Amino acid sequence: MPCIRIRCSPLKNKINVLKVGITPCSYTEIAKTIAGAIKTGTTIHIVTANAAMITAAWKDRQLSRCLDEAEMVTADGMSVVWAIRFLGNKAIDRVTGIDAAYKIFKQAEKLGHRIFLLGAAQEVLMSAVKVIQKQFPALILAGFHHGYFKSDTVMVSIIKKVRPDILLVGMGFSMQEKWIYNNKTSLDIPVIMGVGGTFDVISGEIPRAPVWMQKTGLEWLFRLLQEPQRLWKRYLVSNTMFIYNVLKMKLSGKGKWIQ
Ligand code: UDP
Repeated sequence: MPCIRIRCSPLKNKINVLKVGITPCSYTEIAKTIAGAIKTGTTIHIVTANAAMITAAWKDRQLSRCLDEAEMVTADGMSVVWAIRFLGNKAIDRVTGIDAAYKIFKQAEKLGHRIFLLGAAQEVLMSAVKVIQKQFPALILAGFHHGYFKSDTVMVSIIKKVRPDILLVGMGFSMQEKWIYNNKTSLDIPVIMGVGGTFDVISGEIPRAPVWMQKTGLEWLFRLLQEPQRLWKRYLVSNTMFIYNVLKMKLSGKGKWIQ
C-alpha cells in the first residue's frame, strides 16, 4: 500500500524578517525535528536563508512562496541573526547549511537514516562523497548525483527508487529552493534540505572562511574575495538592500513574531 505522508505544519513562532518567516532553532532542535519527521512519516523542507536569499525573495514571488511553505527557515548568516535582534526580538542561533549537514550526517550514522546527496559538479561531488564516507564510515548513503541533470522527472525517479530518508540538495539558491518546491510532493521523502555550496566545501574545492570570520559576520566577504565576478552582486548589492530594508522595517515597527 502506498504510504501517505502528512505535511508537517509550519512550526510556530516564526520571526518576520522582510516578510520571510525565520524559525528560531538550534542544531540540536533541527536534528530532533528531522528524527521526528522520519519516525512519524511527516515531511519537512528546511531552508537555510541568508541576507541575499531574503532580499531576493522580496522581489521573486516564486522564491518567496518556497520560503513561505517551507516548514523551517533557519537564519544562515550573522546579518540575519543581527537583524532579528535589531528588530526587537530575542537572540536566535545561526544555523548554516554546512554545519547542519554535518549534524545530519552524525545523527544519520547513529540512527541508520539513509541520505541522498544531490548537487555540485560530478568530480566535486565524488570527492565530497569520499570525505563523508571517511568521516562517517557507518553512514548509509542511499545515493548521490551531480546537480547538472536535464530531466526533473528522471532525477525524481532515480531518487525515489532508493527511498532515502533525507535528501540534501546542493545546487545553490534560488535554484535548489525552487527545485525542491516543485518536486517535493512527487519525491515523497521525509526530510529535504537545501545546502547550497556545501559539497564544494566538504570536497575541499572551496575553502571555508576561518572561524573568526564566521563569528564576526564576515563569511560573505571571504566568499566574495574568492569569486568576486560571480558573487559581487549577490553580496554587495543584496547586503546593502537587506540593511536598508531592515532599517525601514524597524521604523515601521513590523519585525516581530508572525505566527
Ligand atoms: N550547481 C548545481 N547545478 C546547477 C548549478 C549549480 O549543482 O545547475 C551547484 C554548483 O556546482 C555548486 C552549488 O550548486 O556546487 C552552488 O553553490 P553556491 O556557492 O552558489 O551556493 P550558495 O551556498 O551560495 O547557495
